Amino acid sequence: MERHQFNITIIGAGVVGLAIAEELSRHYKEILLLEKNESQGQETSSRNSEVIHAGIYYPEGSLKASLCVEGRKLLYEACENRGIPYKRIGKLIVATNPDEEESLQALLGKAQLNGVDDLLFLSGRVVHSLEPDVIASAGLLSPSTGIIDSHSLMRALLVGATDNGVSAVFRSCVTAAHYDGVRHELEINDGESLVASRVVVNCAGLLSDCVAALPGIDVDLEGYRLKLCKGSYFAASPAPRIRHLVYPVPTPKHEGLGVHATLDLGGRVRFGPDVEYVDAVDYRVDEGKRDAFHASIITYLPGLAKESLHPDMSGIRPKLQGPGEEIRDFVISEESRLGLPGWVNLIGIESPGLTACLSIARRVANLIAPAMG
Ligand SMILES: Cc1cc2nc3c(=O)[nH]c(=O)nc-3n(C[C@H](O)[C@H](O)[C@H](O)COP(=O)(O)OP(=O)(O)OC[C@H]3O[C@@H](n4cnc5c(N)ncnc54)[C@H](O)[C@@H]3O)c2cc1C
Repeated sequence: MERHQFNITIIGAGVVGLAIAEELSRHYKEILLLEKNESQGQETSSRNSEVIHAGIYYPEGSLKASLCVEGRKLLYEACENRGIPYKRIGKLIVATNPDEEESLQALLGKAQLNGVDDLLFLSGRVVHSLEPDVIASAGLLSPSTGIIDSHSLMRALLVGATDNGVSAVFRSCVTAAHYDGVRHELEINDGESLVASRVVVNCAGLLSDCVAALPGIDVDLEGYRLKLCKGSYFAASPAPRIRHLVYPVPTPKHEGLGVHATLDLGGRVRFGPDVEYVDAVDYRVDEGKRDAFHASIITYLPGLAKESLHPDMSGIRPKLQGPGEEIRDFVISEESRLGLPGWVNLIGIESPGLTACLSIARRVANLIAPAMG
């Protein structure tokens, strides 16, 4: 069987793999991007809120916090320079009682520690003047939160990477991996072909723990086992009149950001995502959730009629923490310590992975520099 040689192989053409492919192609030759589906970004990268997050919520000092803030700036620059559709529409986090107002103050402090220094604390009256249909006793306005056309972003990254010489190969699932002491050997589609590579970057999203196990990593011992956490959305028609993204105050355990109102670039309003741990990937949206969605939404948009809500879409978060557990950070790790030099794992890349894709790519470039010598 023919054995193809590459310097770097990237597993997974979601937004993270694409960003890494483009970034590394600026520095290195002989790069292969492998994707099991027919085209790029058919999984989590096209099933999300398409929000460019400011970086408000994440624990201080975490990769999620720092890569979100850095990635957001890089992403706005890329949108400007490369004609990727986006809008800096801003986001309102709204409190509806004194307890939630206290939580807003705490969020303000957390955001400042993360380097998000443009948040504005607003009275209920000012929130009402910005969003007449929203009720709030106070609010936080994040002017640097925006929305992006994630499909255009992914197309731009793929074109950038392939123009720089990256070979992007679809319908190619990595099914086995072995390290021979010098190179990583990857088997594609159960032995259809073989690839040997000095560096391997695993950004296989929902399957990144399974891919990490292929060369023999004990994913339970390393804390790499993923838990699937579904987020469903309901669309509203007629759509409520909102001009900003509107979020409730997040719950203390921070399981999600709360069922919020998102706007896409076409002006469509969707509510979601909720939080539901699942055993298998199934993107159907349960119509029976309408009541629970409506009950959450009317706490801040009281005029929304239940009948206007209909099931829309869902996405699945690759989470490292289970229900009720402490929030875990992204894993972005070069695995020399496990006897696999040049193998880089990206695991648990849930939100804000879209916002942070360009800063994650820079981090990976730094991590592989020693292996590329
Ligand atoms: C409901 C929801 C809402 C979100 N909202 C936001 C948001 O508003 N803003 C934000 O910043 N982030 C958001 N996120 C997070 C963001 O969508 C993800 O962090 C990001 O898309 C992850 O990209 P990825 O490339 O790592 O993974 P994916 O997009 O899942 O890509 C992984 C790819 O690897 C491929 N693959 C897997 N196994 C193999 C294999 N063995 N061989 C070859 N290919 C393989 C898959 O087919 C897939 O294409 C949200 C996520 C969810 C679920």
